[in-house]
Amino acid sequence: MTVRIDGKALADDIVEKVALDVAAFKRDQKVTPGLAVVLVGEDPASAVYVRNKVKRANQAGLNSTEHYLAKDTSQEELDKLISQLNQDDSVHGILVQLPLPKHLDESHVIEAISPAKDVDGFHPQNVGNLVTGQKSLIPCTPLGCMIMLNREIDDLSGKNAVVIGRSNIVGKPMASLLLQANCTVTTVHSKTQGIESICRNADILVAAVGQALLVKKEWVKPGAVIIDVGINSVEVEGKRRLLGDVDYDQVSSIAGAITPVPGGVGPMTIACLMQNTLTAAQHQLGV
Ligand code: NAD
Repeated sequence: MTVRIDGKALADDIVEKVALDVAAFKRDQKVTPGLAVVLVGEDPASAVYVRNKVKRANQAGLNSTEHYLAKDTSQEELDKLISQLNQDDSVHGILVQLPLPKHLDESHVIEAISPAKDVDGFHPQNVGNLVTGQKSLIPCTPLGCMIMLNREIDDLSGKNAVVIGRSNIVGKPMASLLLQANCTVTTVHSKTQGIESICRNADILVAAVGQALLVKKEWVKPGAVIIDVGINSVEVEGKRRLLGDVDYDQVSSIAGAITPVPGGVGPMTIACLMQNTLTAAQHQLGV
């Protein structure tokens, strides 16, 4: 029997727990943890993500402020806003929604955010801490994937884990977290030769590519746990549908457990953002 990992239900549980912890934090510290979300431009997918994040922040009892900037906002204007948010004591977490319009320098923006408020976990200081196994803010998507894996698998130690994709926001931090959990980790990517046979050896397979239905049944070891990070908007029979990187219909017949798209990793990412905002506030107030 293949387990369908219900990311939505698990995310609801996490947000409920964060809400309880936020209430206790407010009571004890007399401070409401604050999340500032910055969106530059009008990318429709980004606007949906920001709306969902704000909705969840409200459910968790966080103070959320949104900053909507025009698509032609200059680097200087964006830098100035980030600097203000860095200095604002009511803001404990800063999230700049990516991707940014082409004329803005993403790396520069990530580095401008105070590492203590970097709830996306993308700042080089947090990346370094993650890789060296020190306390850090962990990128939300891989954090959500790890929570799901830890629930499905009693002991990750010694498992063969394959991560498809090597981006800074998903693939690389995912591989670091799996390594820390004592998995034997292989990262495969667009230049990898013989990807299918490498994946077939995986007890844990994480797909973070951005290609609809790339992972087929033949790529999967029977009983493997499959985490599908991909979100691909594809037209199917005249209708827009969200599909993952994994061919769910095929793979679910042999996997031990699998996340659906939608309703898997996506909701967990947002729930982990709430958790990270609380964590950031706790660290900043020395709790
Ligand atoms: P990215 O484009 O930055 O990276 C994609 C990676 O896939 C690259 O490292 C590339 O080498 C690799 N790749 C490309 N083609 C490949 C192939 N044929 N075989 C193997 N590897 C290949 O993307 P990303 O930001 O890491 O996002 C990946 C996917 O995850 C996207 O669909 C994105 O929308 C989704 N995503 C979802 C969430 C969520 O919350 N669920 C969060 C972030 C990203």
